[in-house]
Amino acid sequence: STYTHHFDTPTYNASVTLDTGLFINGEFVQPVDGGTIDVINPTNGQVICPVSIGNAKDIDIAVKAARTAYKTSWGLKVPGAERGRMLSKFADLVEEHSEELAALESLNVGKPFAPTKMFDIGSVIKTLRYYAGWADKIQGKTIETNDAKFCYTRREPVGVVGQIVPWNGPLYLTAWKIGPALAAGNCIILKPSEFSPFTALRIAPLLNLAGFPPGVINIVNGIGSQAGQAISEHPNIEMVSFTGSSLTGRKVLEAAARSNLKQVTLELGGKSPTIIYDDADLEQAVKWASFGVFFNMGQVCCAGSRIFVQEGIYDEFLQKFRDVAKSLKTGDLFDPTTNHGPQVSKIQFDRVMGYIASGKEESAKLETGGVQIGTEGYFIEPTIFSNAKPSMKIAREEIFGPVATVFKFVDEKEVIDLANDTSYGLACAVFTKDLKRALNTAHGIEAGTSWVNMASFLDHALPFGGYKQSGLGRDVGEYALEQYTQLKSVHFNL
Ligand code: NAD
Repeated sequence: STYTHHFDTPTYNASVTLDTGLFINGEFVQPVDGGTIDVINPTNGQVICPVSIGNAKDIDIAVKAARTAYKTSWGLKVPGAERGRMLSKFADLVEEHSEELAALESLNVGKPFAPTKMFDIGSVIKTLRYYAGWADKIQGKTIETNDAKFCYTRREPVGVVGQIVPWNGPLYLTAWKIGPALAAGNCIILKPSEFSPFTALRIAPLLNLAGFPPGVINIVNGIGSQAGQAISEHPNIEMVSFTGSSLTGRKVLEAAARSNLKQVTLELGGKSPTIIYDDADLEQAVKWASFGVFFNMGQVCCAGSRIFVQEGIYDEFLQKFRDVAKSLKTGDLFDPTTNHGPQVSKIQFDRVMGYIASGKEESAKLETGGVQIGTEGYFIEPTIFSNAKPSMKIAREEIFGPVATVFKFVDEKEVIDLANDTSYGLACAVFTKDLKRALNTAHGIEAGTSWVNMASFLDHALPFGGYKQSGLGRDVGEYALEQYTQLKSVHFNL
């Protein structure tokens, strides 16, 4: 079955049709047990349309299709250059459809259209082209050994990989997963989040047009505890690459351990610090700190939600930061001046409002925001707390909403200790003009990414992942190719 949406907006007017089934072995099919879920419009809480959801039976069918494709028409059967050519064609097709894909993403998850087209879909295209370029450059080494045998290593695909994606960057994070996996020759079972399946469904026919053989990429929408769990525990899936919360990541790792010890990469949550020293360019620091915590309504894994400001500029920073938070504009997502949308779902809305209530209860000072915008949908005012203690819930737990907590600090040692006092370790941003202090802080924070004089800027060429409970392994960059390949040593006795 299909769904057609008529966009009649200030910036996008068109009808877009989606197939709402499961995409298995190159075609859309209905789930074995016929399950569906309603996709909700986060701007008004109304149902957009039902889409199919699969369970363990559908995952099993998809795995069989992927396994057959891997043995017959993909994996080591297809030269890297050919895989790269298809990825490159796919990138061109995404580019051709970028307005349509951005509109669908906005409709589904409430992201404003203009930045979605520029950042999300723009990054998808760049990521796919980057991995198209890598596909014929995945190489081993020849290695000298003591007994002068001829020895070398080669990189072989892992096989069938499961990829589980969250709703905060649906197509963006899908490209981060499928780009390197396909370049390296793997077959894929992709599970979008049940909250955000639209763009994954829309790219399915584009994958066919790009020439990927049936079964190479299977897209099975489904709820986490069923389809997601079935991927994590399937005995014929060799690897699972998961992006989502730390709580779910733990379940994926446990299921992988219990089943077939499949390889696991986890990109999880964060409570990232932004550190602003007295000598920073204040305008720039305010701009980036706001972007870091309010972009995508705070639904960013590396959001700089704990902001540490040195005492000399604390008051001035807070004043300017409040002004920016108040200036963010909500409205029609397709109005180019709108830069603040709703939270993705009622669950997330309630969760974020719960954290705001807890901040007030624990006597942090509410500087601005803290309330719903309007009465429809899941909009929350950009919110800033100050006078918080590091022990408070709002300072320790990932909120995943537009809520910043600002702290005052005295010196470098104190702030590095405070910033590291967390179970997470995804990212940090530091603002200073002092090179030594920048390096000390960027290196001293226990996190997978450090930004200096910028924040929350991701690039597909740089590895991304977490220390501590923020993850296991790295996505993107050359490093992702290591995770999506097995390293084989070959010894010749000549
Ligand atoms: P989530 O963990 O609830 O869900 C993520 C995905 O896992 C969804 O597709 C969901 O259906 C699936 N899932 C749920 N239960 C499952 C189970 N038992 N087994 C297997 N799969 C299951 O997270 P979310 O609410 O969709 O996303 C928000 C979280 O994702 C935040 O914690 C955020 O920090 C994190 N995130 C991390 C990164 C990163 O790169 N580190 C990027 C984006 C989001």
